[in-house]
Amino acid sequence: MQKEDVDENGDANMEGALIARDKVGVQDFVLLDSHTSEAAFLNNLRKRYQENLIYTYIGSLLVSVNPYQELDIYTVTQMQLYRGVNFFELPPHLYAIADNAYRVMCNEYNNHFILISGESGAGKTEASKKILQYYAVTCPTTEQLQTVRDRLLLSNPVLEAFGNAKTLRNDNSSRFGKYMDIQFDFKGAPVGGHILSYLIEKSRVVHQNHGERNFHIFYQLLEGGDKDLLCWLGLERNPQKYTYLIQGRCAKVFSINDKNDWKIVRKAFSIIDFTEKDIEHLFGIVASVLHLGNIQFEEDSNGHAIIRDGTQIKWISKLLGAHLSILQEALTHRKIEARSEEVLSPLNVDLAFYARDAVAKAIYGRTFTWLVNKINGSLANKDSTQKTVIGLLDIYGFEVLDTNSFEQFCINYCNEKLQQLLIEMTLKAEQEEYELEGIEWEPIPYFNNKIICDLVEQKHKGIISILDEECLRPGEATDLSFLEKLEEKVGDHAHFVTRKLADQKTRKSIDWVDFRLLHYAGEVTYCAGNFYLLLFQVLCNSKNSIMRDCFLLSELDNRRRPETVATQFKNSLTSLIEILMSKEPSYIRCIKPNENKEPGKFDDFLIRHQVKYLGLMEHLRVRRAGFAYRRKYELFLQRYKSLCPATWPHWHGPAAEGVERLIKHIGYKPEEYKLGRTKIFIRFPKTLFATEDAFEY
Ligand code: ATP
Ligand code: MG
Repeated sequence: MQKEDVDENGDANMEGALIARDKVGVQDFVLLDSHTSEAAFLNNLRKRYQENLIYTYIGSLLVSVNPYQELDIYTVTQMQLYRGVNFFELPPHLYAIADNAYRVMCNEYNNHFILISGESGAGKTEASKKILQYYAVTCPTTEQLQTVRDRLLLSNPVLEAFGNAKTLRNDNSSRFGKYMDIQFDFKGAPVGGHILSYLIEKSRVVHQNHGERNFHIFYQLLEGGDKDLLCWLGLERNPQKYTYLIQGRCAKVFSINDKNDWKIVRKAFSIIDFTEKDIEHLFGIVASVLHLGNIQFEEDSNGHAIIRDGTQIKWISKLLGAHLSILQEALTHRKIEARSEEVLSPLNVDLAFYARDAVAKAIYGRTFTWLVNKINGSLANKDSTQKTVIGLLDIYGFEVLDTNSFEQFCINYCNEKLQQLLIEMTLKAEQEEYELEGIEWEPIPYFNNKIICDLVEQKHKGIISILDEECLRPGEATDLSFLEKLEEKVGDHAHFVTRKLADQKTRKSIDWVDFRLLHYAGEVTYCAGNFYLLLFQVLCNSKNSIMRDCFLLSELDNRRRPETVATQFKNSLTSLIEILMSKEPSYIRCIKPNENKEPGKFDDFLIRHQVKYLGLMEHLRVRRAGFAYRRKYELFLQRYKSLCPATWPHWHGPAAEGVERLIKHIGYKPEEYKLGRTKIFIRFPKTLFATEDAFEY
């Protein structure tokens, strides 16, 4: 149990906790005394963190600070405690957010989402898993629905094996964005699910920075796979043998038990309904990627690339069921169009390596998408009894690395969009509540990052459009022409800066372009490249059924202009925002306390930065600009009725009138409160503190 006040019924309460606020801080930032300074905010967060109170509210938004240690607050008893209890009656918790969304969904038959955001390592995935567990334990279920429950829970280890990796920031970093709908029937039982995944970080398949690993599944397979399996795949157990696994120089990680994880994943496969054939093909692909990485090229007498040793390509040919000579050709040639005829042009060694990596990335990326679809098939609700959903969004946080590529550009663009959504929806919700209650209010100014979203996504003038145009001019477009286009079209935008052109002139054409964006969360310099090769034909004809599903022949139709990755991403984000806008929101903002994954260490500088860019102060201000505190008349009266003779011990009239009598008696000034249709709104926390103190004595 958290160190916050709990009365004899097991009910902790906010008011009780207020008294102890000096010791453990306040459990809702809205209740901080008078000024909402950043220092006071941090102070409160620190106090609580040091007492292992990792959750704090800002109104109904939950702020969570990663404890980096197992806390005793996720037990089944705790889950039961939060079940069906009013939001503010217990100490802040993920379960309160989860339960609130669930109860409102059940009572009002509307859809919800819980948006979990924060930077890498802040605890988003852990939070989303804990919420899923909460529903699995507390929602009603039947024997039939047990399978759905198990599949919902076990989709996680599979997706994490293929989509998570050890990075410098997090030993289990999600390298894809995930939105999961949990579908409920009219009785509130989970009956199915659906997952949308966003932009898996394919570059990791072929390259890892020092101290980082490739996706977990590679190491799990090598460590855990039995001898026969490895033999069939042509693999050796030692990860050091594989180019794609050794660049980060940390195949073995203390905190990760690959062998054990392998067992969990294997078991999950059988529960999620993968056939043995699926599994065979899937690992055939995982092994092929490792073999691909070991292919080396050398130059023939004409300066063209040839494959140095045929061993790997033979394994790939076997595992993917692809013709050996076509595969060889595909890795050392590219198709070009000359006078409306397609001819094969040999690659030099550099380009052949590039092509090899491009194929490995494409195979892995598409297999990941296949995996998500397969899981969706198994989570699909077959009886269409679904009534409502709760969506969980665990999306990568704003990211600034030493070198920021196209992937960071997409991640940060995604964060801009979600920030905008949050601002709009919280302001909107606030405004709607006042309107509903018949209360006047002046919206407070806030930074609207729409200007940055437009810079990225606007038709014709936005960065993505400009990138698209350049991608459609293969051969003609260079990094320099891209940069010039950017300068021409968005050069004078307040949030855009390019590198000096002079710096660029010396660069080669396949090289990178640098430009800088001033995001709401900080400034980022990007290197954007736009070079790609098509080498799909051979995979469309593969005998490996997953590969055939992943590389559709129809894609080779030249008449269809392929959508660029940037546009695909933009479109998928647009539909995500639409999905979210149609639902009731809850927000969890996760904070990473230090860079060393250390329990108890509260790094002021790091946390201040996150508080800033997560927009927490803005959120608090919006929350306080109106009314810091609101409560239904009945509840308010129930708690404070002993303060007024007219309402004590019972008030028989309407609750609103009782409250009016009560606050008159205790002397609320007119500017301190407003009476809405169903609730009392109190402008300043200190008013409530005073009432609370009077109540205590
Ligand atoms: P990324 O964006 O890289 O995926 P993330 O925000 O999803 O990061 P998590 O993987 O959820 O981060 O958390 C990182 C690590 O922090 C976990 O592996 C776990 O060790 C620890 N952690 C996070 N939340 C908790 C928690 N509530 N209790 C205990 N440990 C936690
Ligand atoms: Mg994660």
